[in-house]
Amino acid sequence: MLEKPVGMSQSAQSVWTSCLDVINDNVNPQSFKTWFNPIEPVKLEKDVLTIQVPSMFFYEWLEEHYVDLLSKTIKKFLGIEARLEYSIILERADASGNGSTVNVPTLANKDSQNPSVAMPVSIGPEIPNPFVIPGLKKIKIDPQLNQNYTFNNFIEGECNSLARSAGFAVANKPGQTAFNPLMLYGGVGLGKTHLAQAIGNKIKELYKDQYIVLYVQSEKFSNQFVDAIKNNSKNDFFNFYQLVDVLILDDVQFLSSKHKTQDILFHLFNHLHQAGKQLIFTSDRHPKDIDGMDDRLLSRFKWGLSCDLQPPDLETRIAILGKKTYMDGISVPKEIIEYIAHNIDSNVRELEGALISLMAQSSLNKKEIDLNLAKQIIKNFVRNITREVSIDYIQKLVCDFYEMPIDIIKAKSRKREIVQTRQIAMFLSKAHTKSSLKNIGKHFGGKDHSTVIHACNTIDNLMQIDKKLRGEVDALQKKIKISMT
Ligand code: ADP
Ligand code: MG
Repeated sequence: MLEKPVGMSQSAQSVWTSCLDVINDNVNPQSFKTWFNPIEPVKLEKDVLTIQVPSMFFYEWLEEHYVDLLSKTIKKFLGIEARLEYSIILERADASGNGSTVNVPTLANKDSQNPSVAMPVSIGPEIPNPFVIPGLKKIKIDPQLNQNYTFNNFIEGECNSLARSAGFAVANKPGQTAFNPLMLYGGVGLGKTHLAQAIGNKIKELYKDQYIVLYVQSEKFSNQFVDAIKNNSKNDFFNFYQLVDVLILDDVQFLSSKHKTQDILFHLFNHLHQAGKQLIFTSDRHPKDIDGMDDRLLSRFKWGLSCDLQPPDLETRIAILGKKTYMDGISVPKEIIEYIAHNIDSNVRELEGALISLMAQSSLNKKEIDLNLAKQIIKNFVRNITREVSIDYIQKLVCDFYEMPIDIIKAKSRKREIVQTRQIAMFLSKAHTKSSLKNIGKHFGGKDHSTVIHACNTIDNLMQIDKKLRGEVDALQKKIKISMT
């Protein structure tokens, strides 16, 4: 495309449209949509183009990931002296709810003699905390952190990479990034608590007692508050929490429909946030999906950054198991690690559970950790977390397969093909359910347990010699397995 010569009058809009064309060719469509579509060009003065971005986080992201591209592109259209400025909409609004904006230059504007202009991290009027008296030593509060949850042993994968980097940024500059509050959400066992505590531990490591960090489960928070109401000590409760510099509140979905606790949290949030304190929340679902959460609190949750934790992919699962065995000082063959990682893909807690069972079994029974043992353990795990098939379901599957009404195999018929269909259904019920022989017999019109044993043995034997029957039974087993996953 043709570039307009420098100096010719151009509008912010037209320059930005040209820039977008170039950017579009250089980033993938998803990134374009996420990071460039929402930008509004607002002003072009001489060779300074100002673009408006929807949040602080947006600005930081652009600066971190696209600063080169942005800078080259605007220079292409506005000449070598071109500079970029951002107008950032601050979600941290005034009481009226209207966002204000702040203007900042891009880092790419800076020349090499002045490489470290501070980021505009603290914006807006700061309200001093009335409980921190200058010169007075800070009180000590036990942060309630589990030292084992660190960044060091939190394995990074695509599933958690944004959450991890945001967490790391927060740990390095608590209360001073745009990620305030930081909301970590995702299903059970995906590492929310681990990551939230890792942030707390890192802050302690970096800053010692400079920051008062406090980790608290939402349930505990709520109970403490209820007690405070009972004991007429609501103010003490509030004053205590106001002292905290980094508040980590785990599993806020627990506060659903607890409107009084939500109310106090809302006020606490405002106090802490305005004083530049860091808030970190976790939730087992996106906050907007928590029923019974007050809108004003939800809107606060959205002020900073929400990132989700996804179930780990295979590589990450292998890496997590590898790290875990390494840290526990045990050696588990690679093929076994891979076997477990392959078979357990629900969440990290299940994954660790399988590994712990494996180690326990091996030391209890003095057995080597080998693939057979792993298979046994996994079988239990997988069975626990998959759906159980029922005898009824197996009967239906078998009867559909042989095109026979279910009632017939439950009746007393001794016709050869009916007997065999019934025996196959019994055999499969024995193999794929945890039902007793007696219970299986009951499902087939009240046969006794010896009939079921006989059926199982007959089919077992027939399968050794009858290829056709073996094929049919195998096909049925496959159908059952599919239905179990
Ligand atoms: P959640 O709070 O999301 O339910 P947790 O933080 O309690 O999950 O994690 C469950 C278990 O899995 C913990 O033992 C944690 O250490 C481990 N875990 C989760 N994610 C990771 C990861 N990325 N790397 C290492 N361990 C992890
Ligand atoms: Mg948790």
